[in-house]
Amino acid sequence: MLDNQSIKMLVGVHPDLKRVASAVSDIKGLPGWRVTFGVRTLAQEQYAILHGYSSLKNPHDCRHVPSGKPPVSHAIDISVLINGKPTWANQYIPAYIKIGEAFQQVSKELNIPIRSGYLWMTFKDYGHHELPIANYP
Ligand SMILES: [Zn+2]
Repeated sequence: MLDNQSIKMLVGVHPDLKRVASAVSDIKGLPGWRVTFGVRTLAQEQYAILHGYSSLKNPHDCRHVPSGKPPVSHAIDISVLINGKPTWANQYIPAYIKIGEAFQQVSKELNIPIRSGYLWMTFKDYGHHELPIANYP
């Protein structure tokens, strides 16, 4: 089950992505995790690019920035929780991958395509999951 903070972060996120996150949260035996980012404003993404937190060049390409009609975010970031606190330490990469695999499994079950950052070839964005632009322009 999604915790309150995750539910708050999912406000303004596309309902299909919410369905996937919610189904993943019901899977037993996964490391603890929570949604730590959904919607990002254009200004927030510009800041992230400027400071190297985002690998993008154009903030409009960011799937967190709301787009479409009505405008919604097509991406979320999740964090692994250790003692209830989000962690991005390298030693927890296997936990991120485990959760990422669960996102891919649910994606197939619900027939909702998901691009997961842990599968990217160049810059691995382990906590990032998005609805592909090809399917959700
Ligand atoms: Zn992200």
